[in-house]
Amino acid sequence: MMEKIALAGLLPEEIVSCLSLPQTFRGVQIFKWIGSGVTSFESMTNISETLRTELAEKAELRSSAVTNTLKDPDGTIKLQITLHDGLAVETVLLTDRDNRKTACVSCQAGCAMKCAFCKTGTLGLVRNLSAAEIVEQFLFLEKTAGPLDNIVFMGMGEPMMNLPEIRKAVAVLTDKRGRNLSGRRITLSTSGVIKGIYDLADNGPLIRLAVSLTTADENLRNRLMPVSLANPLPELRKAIAYYIEKTGKRVTLEAALLSGENTGAESARHLIDFAKELDVNINVIPWNPVEGLPFKEPSFEESASFVSMLEKEGLNITLRTRRGRKIGGACGQLGRTQSQPPSQDTEDEVF
Ligand code: SF4
Repeated sequence: MMEKIALAGLLPEEIVSCLSLPQTFRGVQIFKWIGSGVTSFESMTNISETLRTELAEKAELRSSAVTNTLKDPDGTIKLQITLHDGLAVETVLLTDRDNRKTACVSCQAGCAMKCAFCKTGTLGLVRNLSAAEIVEQFLFLEKTAGPLDNIVFMGMGEPMMNLPEIRKAVAVLTDKRGRNLSGRRITLSTSGVIKGIYDLADNGPLIRLAVSLTTADENLRNRLMPVSLANPLPELRKAIAYYIEKTGKRVTLEAALLSGENTGAESARHLIDFAKELDVNINVIPWNPVEGLPFKEPSFEESASFVSMLEKEGLNITLRTRRGRKIGGACGQLGRTQSQPPSQDTEDEVF
């Protein structure tokens, strides 16, 4: 059977050409409908029934499907999504105190980067996701929770290793004829792939950059984040400085705090030296436990003491609250590449 064309990752012109549509304005009409979240061609009421039938034969609005929806009492929602080939990924919706909603989407099934504190890192890379599979995660979350404010490429996978598809997904999400999301609302989080940072700075899209630094102690980082062996800290710092200069955008450094590993005065000093004179915010994130990994979450006092050492140097620090832990939806806890059958109740409230 002929494989159907996944429309969610295409721009209007691409829709026209992939479907060989005789009228170009049809591409914009279909694109607008997809951005509005419709899930069937039947809902496209300004398109003739004959064309709708033809579209349904050749194309699909969703190539993937939500298998389970998990809800944490803190408002976090995690969707378990089955891809067309049976692989699975997870995507998360985070709601902050001001009720701003952020989609944390995956860009790969699994991940090759092997960060020692991350569940996804234990899986290895299975494959890159397509632009359609990335955009669909956003559309699924909007269908579940209403209009979203932000999107972060911070779920499963290293976005810099799938930059071409991320670029296509960003083009679709920011296009004024469809979802029209501002580039200021989009953040790409990398484990520190230097080549990707330069590529993004030079070739766009103009979005926000976050770097998951964890520690600025070279030896410790080599152990916790093997990406550092080929992307050493001094070169990474230069790449971040270049990104800031080229884009005029402040960069976020993320530091997952692992009790007893990177929470002491020496670690704080390394981070201060790395961050000073860079236009950065630092997000400090107490590590979220993952079964089987040999780390401990820091106590509140340990995290607060680390933050206070940084604040004394005048750095911009945010101590992030933990969200989504009860559903395995917090930072570093995502990790599923095989599809599982849906729960009987697909809206599990987890208390
Ligand atoms: S933290 Fe990100 S880059 Fe590192 S293993 Fe996990 S998913 Fe991959």
